[in-house]
Amino acid sequence: MPQIFLDGQAFEARTEQTVLQVALEHGVFIPRLCWHPKLSVAGNCRICVVQVEGRSWVEIACNMPVSEGLRVLTDSPLVREHRKATMQFITLNHPVDCGICDKAGECTLQDYHVAFNGEASISREPKVQATKFHRLSERITLDNERCILCTRCVRFTREVSKSNALGVKNRGDHSLIRPAEGDDVRLLDDDAYSENIVDICPVGALLSTRLLYKERVWYLQATPSVCPGCARGCAIDVWHRKPEWKLRTLDARHNTAIVRVTPRDNPAVNGPWICNKGRDLALLLERPRADAALRKGRAVALDEALAAARELIGRARHPVALVSSWGSDEELAALDDALGDRFTCFVKDDHLPADGEVVEDDLLIRADKNPNGRTARARFGHQALQFAPDTDLVLVWGEGCDFGRLPRGVPVIFLNAFLAAENGHAEVFFPTSVHTERDGHFTNADGVRSAFSRCVDRPTGVVDAERVFRALASVPAGVAP
Ligand code: SF4
Ligand code: SF4
Repeated sequence: MPQIFLDGQAFEARTEQTVLQVALEHGVFIPRLCWHPKLSVAGNCRICVVQVEGRSWVEIACNMPVSEGLRVLTDSPLVREHRKATMQFITLNHPVDCGICDKAGECTLQDYHVAFNGEASISREPKVQATKFHRLSERITLDNERCILCTRCVRFTREVSKSNALGVKNRGDHSLIRPAEGDDVRLLDDDAYSENIVDICPVGALLSTRLLYKERVWYLQATPSVCPGCARGCAIDVWHRKPEWKLRTLDARHNTAIVRVTPRDNPAVNGPWICNKGRDLALLLERPRADAALRKGRAVALDEALAAARELIGRARHPVALVSSWGSDEELAALDDALGDRFTCFVKDDHLPADGEVVEDDLLIRADKNPNGRTARARFGHQALQFAPDTDLVLVWGEGCDFGRLPRGVPVIFLNAFLAAENGHAEVFFPTSVHTERDGHFTNADGVRSAFSRCVDRPTGVVDAERVFRALASVPAGVAP
């Protein structure tokens, strides 16, 4: 293991590491724009320059291999002088539209300008003008004037998503990021991971079209969560409005809306990436919600619905439960504890692949479109659904049930988060919470257990499935209360 010295302090390094990697691993700050931990080294932004002791020039740390006894200065006067000049060069043609830029508040270029330059431009030449709203794909808008040509987006499509969708066109200060051409190229629209380039763009050049000019990041907070879109269970941050910035005059739904979803780096699950479906969590969870308990389609108080369900369970001799593969570990345990002995349980797929959706690939996307099928089947078994002729009660939890296949004339207790015609057909219906409204865990297909936290309050009238199961516990057979 080579030992290197950063600003006089000794650090153990691994042979294959660069000076930049060693510095970041040990908390020594070196700025970087084009370098990204999961992409190849491009070395084109030159902001990570450092000085080897005794040399009168600077070199880039991202491409400097470690060697025994290497002594490097990360903040010498020469390094500072070069960083300042580099910032002036990078911002030469960069527009000063930070005030309206969606990246403002989390822009690396803005931060580095303050840290390493901080002065007005010394150039008297007009800035090169380029396209401001270039539609790269349905989801992504490119502002070419803000682009600093770091090529992170190009390398992502070549090295991670493998669509080869992007390239650099033209030369010098007329260079533009544009769709690439060639036999091995797919459209960015067909790249299921394309929106990751919005995250990794170090400036406000790549923008989510859906969010364009809709929010300011300082009004938002990120809550750790898990994407329920497939059995990978990617770690995500769900961004929603901070309580202190709640809106009073606009529709109250703005205050509980999922504004955006970004990956939360978890090396055991998804690394720093998620697929585009994960970004669309709001479309999935913000469908019209059920918010009233029902008795044969008539709105009733929760206690009345619980009493009716207890009566049905008490009378049943051969009840069957269709278990949700979207239930959390805690909810599945609650169902098992409360009713597992009384019911014959079958796990169902709440969601199947949608038309046009990527079913499975070798990066993240799994064919099972449910977050907790593994835990559900570990508890309740893998058996295929089959109703015995004497089935006299069915409890359906979650979506994905074909009510036309349930035994005719048998009463149904139904728990569902969304408005659906079947809600009113059930004997008893409970409107349940979605996972962004409570704390819990999902265990993904590989057995990794991940926590999710409550982002927003449950809507009035909505109840957690766990509470319903616990309230229905200990109703012995044949003893209707
Ligand atoms: S669009 Fe962003 S990520 Fe792509 S090259 Fe330009 S600055 Fe880099
Ligand atoms: S790979 Fe699956 S879990 Fe990950 S973001 Fe996409 S849909 Fe969600």
